[in-house]
Amino acid sequence: MSMEDVLVRATVGDARVYAVTTTHLTQQMNEIHQCSPLAAAALGRTAAGALMLAATMKDGEAVTLRFKGNGPLGQVMADARDYTVRGFVEHPSVMLPLKNGKLDVGGGVGHEGVLIVTRCPEKGAPFNGYALLKSGEIADDLTKYLYVSEQTPSSVALGVLVDKDGSIAVSGGYFVQPLPGADEHCLEILENNVLTLPYVTELLRSGHSPEDMIRLVGKGLAVDIMDRHPVSFHCSCSREGVEHMLTGLPDKEFASMLEDPRTEVKCQYCGRTYLFSQDEMKALSRVKAESTHTAATPAETRK
Ligand SMILES: [Zn+2]
Repeated sequence: MSMEDVLVRATVGDARVYAVTTTHLTQQMNEIHQCSPLAAAALGRTAAGALMLAATMKDGEAVTLRFKGNGPLGQVMADARDYTVRGFVEHPSVMLPLKNGKLDVGGGVGHEGVLIVTRCPEKGAPFNGYALLKSGEIADDLTKYLYVSEQTPSSVALGVLVDKDGSIAVSGGYFVQPLPGADEHCLEILENNVLTLPYVTELLRSGHSPEDMIRLVGKGLAVDIMDRHPVSFHCSCSREGVEHMLTGLPDKEFASMLEDPRTEVKCQYCGRTYLFSQDEMKALSRVKAESTHTAATPAETRK
């Protein structure tokens, strides 16, 4: 198996096809969050989906996927930008019995709830799209979201295989996005191919590269591989960002933190811990008093 994760972009007939392997970055997140196999599968699928959606956008633009279902895993989130991704699961230690011999990701995420997709363009305000969950299995929900909210008859397949020892054996997926005005016959061929393909985990397990998956998806059509990029886990958190978040907290909350001998802020995406002494917090309180901004950045909170 290849030592790095990659994302490949191709034109197949009248469609754009993306395929990605994410085994290593999923294992990294698995270790950071000490995931159960169920949580690792949910997070790995979400991260692979986020990476492929981000690949449809321009450099510097970001996409965040937030699954808010009624299942015991709680919220599952990933955000991707420029071929990097980070994410977390609210309750990463939750495990459920297997369902038909497979990890019950739908049961973990929940069959009811909402998928929120946030696209952040380089310039201008971020915008959100919503869709009710279909099965909580992630790929189904993304496919439904793209159809309902973005009016694209796309198809998304994602898979994560977890070994007996809890490590990630394989992880990845593909995403078929018909171009506007695509030929009906071409779409039929793509649909048929997708319906008859083995599971992503089986393809990856038997050594298929992203290019191989794209050629299978595009069987009978002209396949033009456009580019291939390494993808990786990356968290963009920084001390500066945490300071900005702290000075944006409500006054009351900040005042109670000022009484502590030290304040600890842990990044929920990568687990990195930022420590602030009481003196440092006092210095921040002066910055806070002078600053006019009130909005906290939503990402890194929690002490
Ligand atoms: Zn971080």
